[in-house]
Amino acid sequence: MKRILLLSALAFVIATTSAQTGFWGLIQLPYASEALEPVISRRTIELHHGKHLAGYVETLNLLVKDTEYEGKSLEHIVRHSSGVIFNNAGQVLNHILYFQQFSPQGGGVPTGRLARAIEEQWGTFDDFREEFEKRGAALFGSGWVWLAQTADGTLIILQEPGGSNPVASGCRPILGFDVWEHAYYLDYENRRLEHLRSLWDIIDWQVVGERYARP
Ligand code: MN
Repeated sequence: MKRILLLSALAFVIATTSAQTGFWGLIQLPYASEALEPVISRRTIELHHGKHLAGYVETLNLLVKDTEYEGKSLEHIVRHSSGVIFNNAGQVLNHILYFQQFSPQGGGVPTGRLARAIEEQWGTFDDFREEFEKRGAALFGSGWVWLAQTADGTLIILQEPGGSNPVASGCRPILGFDVWEHAYYLDYENRRLEHLRSLWDIIDWQVVGERYARP
């Protein structure tokens, strides 16, 4: 049986699997595992999606069973939980957003309302990009760098440690780069900044633009 959950505020559709394998299912990638090469290798995608994300999903299913979080949205769990449940729910949410924002036809620059909002905040897209890369490279240890929208609609760059997500502080996630070593180490070794700079070539700005809410 397939169940469809709608995360209302974020508007993602997540196909879940049968009760035998748990409540949350592993999302299917909207591209082949080798489609993002040379920016992200097939091997990295296979491990990142098939092992790391699958592990977070499996752990989250075990942790929330028979708790107040069973049946709740990922966004709700990230907002209200702490400890291992928070970290695993955050990582499931983070990686759904992450994998869905890429496309082999991606790249270029944002358009429309998001482009205008970025220019209002940072001057030019290149200035934003440089700041975003810098914040991602400077994050100590494992975590994420996010373009996010505050409750009043302002765009900000957030560094989130570990498995955290902007929804934890009431913000809306727009674009997220994973700076855990598992996201790039096979392809870029310790060259995190080089990896972050390469990711712009596979960003699907249509998907990202749709996450931006009208202030
Ligand atoms: Mn990851």
